[in-house]
Amino acid sequence: MKIEENKVASIDYTLTNDHGEVLDSSSGREPLAYLHGNGGLIPGLEKELEGKVKGDKLVAIIAPDQAYGVRSEELVQEIPLENFQDASEVKIGAQFQVQNGDHTHIATITTIGDKSATVDMNHPLADETLHFDVEIMDVREPTKEELEHGHVHGAGGHHH
Ligand code: ZN
Repeated sequence: MKIEENKVASIDYTLTNDHGEVLDSSSGREPLAYLHGNGGLIPGLEKELEGKVKGDKLVAIIAPDQAYGVRSEELVQEIPLENFQDASEVKIGAQFQVQNGDHTHIATITTIGDKSATVDMNHPLADETLHFDVEIMDVREPTKEELEHGHVHGAGGHHH
């Protein structure tokens, strides 16, 4: 069975940046399972995995615009300190999720002033060219429920 829209693929992967530093890996964990064509992975990686079968191995080099985006200064914003629910969370380097329309951003506090904090909503991997070393561990049909939810349940997927 080939990886194509609405098939569940399980992959072992190691993600490195341009300097060869490991950013993420499924090593020591269950393979990552996702529902192909539903935005579960970055677009560039889904494109590379299209048509692959169990046992295939590949190295995919993904440019920022097909990965976590190009840095945008518009995503760097000043937030009044009073807008934070919990003052103890206002620390340089603290990260939290921000809902912006359909998108969930990971925001990182970069500076703190007297009245406001600077928050960077660029993805931590924005501007990075990503190198994925991937092995396809399994390809299967989704369950009816997975198809309805648009994501994988159980091992390697969502738990709810
Ligand atoms: Zn679900």
